[in-house]
Parts: sequence; structure tokens; C-alpha cells
Amino acid sequence: MLDKVLIANRGEIALRVLRACKELGIKTVAVHSSADRDLKHVLLADESICIGRAPATESYLNIPAIIAAAEVTNSIAIHPGYGFLSENADFAEQVEKSGFIFIGPKAETINLMGDKVSAIEAMRKAGVPCVPGSDGPLGPDGDVNKTIAKRIGYPIIIKAAGGGGGRGMRVVREEKELLESIATTKSEAKAAFNNDVVYMEKFLENPRHIEIQVLSDGQGSAIYLAERDCSMQRRHQKVVEEAPAPGITPEMRVRIGERCCNACVEIGYRGAGTFEFLYENGEFYFIEMNTRIQVEHPVTEMITGVDLIKEQLRVAAGLPLSIEQSEIRISGHAIECRINAEDPQTFIPSPGKITHFHPAGGLGVRWDSHIYSGYSVPPYYDSMIGKLITYGESRDVAIARMRHALDELVVDGIKTNIPLQKRIMSDQNFRNGGTNIHYLEKKLETEK
Ligand code: ADP
Repeated sequence: MLDKVLIANRGEIALRVLRACKELGIKTVAVHSSADRDLKHVLLADESICIGRAPATESYLNIPAIIAAAEVTNSIAIHPGYGFLSENADFAEQVEKSGFIFIGPKAETINLMGDKVSAIEAMRKAGVPCVPGSDGPLGPDGDVNKTIAKRIGYPIIIKAAGGGGGRGMRVVREEKELLESIATTKSEAKAAFNNDVVYMEKFLENPRHIEIQVLSDGQGSAIYLAERDCSMQRRHQKVVEEAPAPGITPEMRVRIGERCCNACVEIGYRGAGTFEFLYENGEFYFIEMNTRIQVEHPVTEMITGVDLIKEQLRVAAGLPLSIEQSEIRISGHAIECRINAEDPQTFIPSPGKITHFHPAGGLGVRWDSHIYSGYSVPPYYDSMIGKLITYGESRDVAIARMRHALDELVVDGIKTNIPLQKRIMSDQNFRNGGTNIHYLEKKLETEK
């Protein structure tokens, strides 16, 4: 096993990685900004180093500072968590060039999947179903582009190859808007991502977001760990996630899961990853791959019993996965509510001191969070302060547990979205299962 791991992240995911390392007897190094001295994992790590000032560009995104910290602490490997540098191919490359193990895929894989055009091409080749589209970048010829759009059928969506975070996309409903929309998306993409390559896809009107979790050893072996439904979103940000996805049959799961595994083998994927799909009328359409651990990984852990972070650490150490596909059993249902420090009505972030904190507990309740009474939520980073996860033998039981867990959870001193999560958990359509990606925004609009 790895001897010492540097955790290049903060908050709940840094604590999650630290806990997995402790269980495996791996020594830990916490790196933190000057605003994060009091983070729980910093206090629990074997060693800790301040790598810069509060703004992320000066600390959690500061590649030389992180590599220097790995050098002075004699770390063996670096875990990037999610966000920050986790999908930065340049970081992965510099980590490995400096003689450390990057806990994630190879830099070239991050590059391949980071460009949406090359990712889709690789997925098509591997037999993963994609959204009908332009088969590559759009050229300069307006008539050709009109023909492509007509073949796909309106509405269509123009997307930037280098886009991310829900930016660099434009829906076109009629031919007369097409050429101007292509030109605008191109110039916006050039400005935002320094890459003006755009492509075209069929716009799906009412899809659900369903994603497949994979683990791959990078040596020709890959497994899938069922799916998650993350359709409850606001502004492309996930709010609630669950596993398995309501209505997905075992046959559908096997079919899509095997294709994802096939793709992992084809691209030499290493570590944990997620294939994100839009799902409409019984069909899956690949949109992108996340080449890292995700926020919502716990719901998969709850229904499979597999510790995804430990598997990441094993693969990074060159060991095989600890389980085979035939050993993966799905049991029960898990739901995750993201708890954010924000106003539940306006969604404006609400940093500040937590004066009083009481976690939820009991059978089937999991609380992944770094907060404690007296902890101050800094204003510099993402507003997520914890993840409340419940598990039950059925979806109804998981929801019932979530409802009482949300009642038990007390975070005083700052505003949180707990009231919003309570509204979602008592929403009849959510309780029926299978709502689409626009549902939450429409609900918020009509219940204003
Ligand atoms: P990003 O990398 O910016 O997150 P994605 O390709 O994952 O971009 O798309 C983000 C979101 O945009 C999706 O979750 C979905 O809501 C919407 N979207 C993307 N492509 C389509 C499409 N072809 N049809 C309908 N909605 C889409």
C-alpha cells in the first residue's frame, strides 16, 4: 500500500480521503490555505502545511506549492479530491513528472475526456450511446451546418468542445437562428475557454440525468457499480442524488454498464470515474465523463458496500480492484441531500460562524461533513458544508429516514438550504420518482 498521501483539497472530501487513508494505515498530509487552519482534517492529519493565501488561485490551485509540499513531506501520492485541480491534465502530468503518484487517470486520459469532441468520438468508437449530433466540430460552411441541423432535427444545441460547468451552450429551435447562434457560441467559447471549436447535438427536451460509476485498474480490468440519478438540479448544480435510479431495470443497467466498462478498457482508464448520461424515453445518451471521484459517490457506496476511495488508493498503489463484477450486489436505496451554506430562497451564499451544530443520526443515516460547533465557513470556496445520506431497504424507507434526519440536523448561525431539502423530500412528484432535470427549477418558479 501507499506509505503517505498528500490530500490536495479541503472540506468534506479532504476528510473523506483522510478517513480512508487511516483505515488503510496510510500516513496523511493536509495542505491548506491560510483561511483553512481550523479544518477538521487539518487537525486530524499526521502532518499539515499551509500552501498559500485564502483565494484558491493562491493555494488549492497553486501547482508548484502543492508539489513542493509533497516534496518536503516525502509523500508518495497526491489525491486531488473533486473540483480544484482534480481534472487538470497539466497538474496530473506535473505530479507524475515530479515523481509522485497522481491518484486518478493518466494526464492523456484527462485531456481526451476533457475535450468534449474527442470524448464523444472515443465513446462512439467504444459503443457507448451518444446524443445524435454533428460527428465532430462544425466547419465554416453555413449550408453544410444547416444540412447537419436538419438531419438531426430541431431543436438542437450548440456546444463548445472546451466547455464546462454548464457554460458554452446554446439551444437553437429554428433554422433562421442557426448561423448566428453558431457564431456567438464560437466567439464566447474562444473568450471563455480559449478554444472556439463547437459541435452540434440534438437538444433533449425533458431528460433525466443518470450516471454510471466505474472503477478501472488501468490494466485491462473495469467494473461498473450501478447508476445514480442526479436529476434534481438548479442551474446545472446537483441538489439531491440517489442510487439506484428509479425505473432502471437490471437488464438496462447491465447493458449500459458493460458499455462503460468496455470504454474504460479501450481508453486505458485508471481509477474511479463517472459516465454522465441524459436519459429520455428509455434511452441513454452520453454527455461527458468525469475523471475523478464525485460529490455524490456515497450513495453508490451505500447500495454496493464498496468503499470507492479505498479502491482509488488501491489502484494508485498498483494493486488490483478488491472486487469483481460478479461480486457487485445492489441492495436497498440511498439518497444524498447536499447541505449548502446559502439562503434557501435566494441561494445567496451565507458564510460565517456556526454557533451551534447537531448532526443527524440513527440507523441508515450517514453525515459526511467537516463542520463543527464554532467552525467558521469561509467566504472563499464552494458553499457546500456537508452531505446528508440516508439508506433504507427501499426508496420509501430512505426518504422517510431523510425526512427525520433533516429535522434532526441543526446548523445555527448561518443560513442553510435545509428548508429547501425538506420541501423536496415532501414533494409528491419526487416521492413518485423519475422527475426530470428541469423539475426543481420549475417547482421553484411556480411556488415563489
Ligand atoms: P458541462 O461540462 O458544462 O457540465 P454537459 O455536457 O455535462 O456540460 O451539459 C451540462 C448540462 O446541459 C446537462 O446536464 C443538461 O442539463 C444540458 N445539456 C447538455 N447537452 C444537452 C442536450 N443534448 N440536450 C439537452 N440538454 C443538454
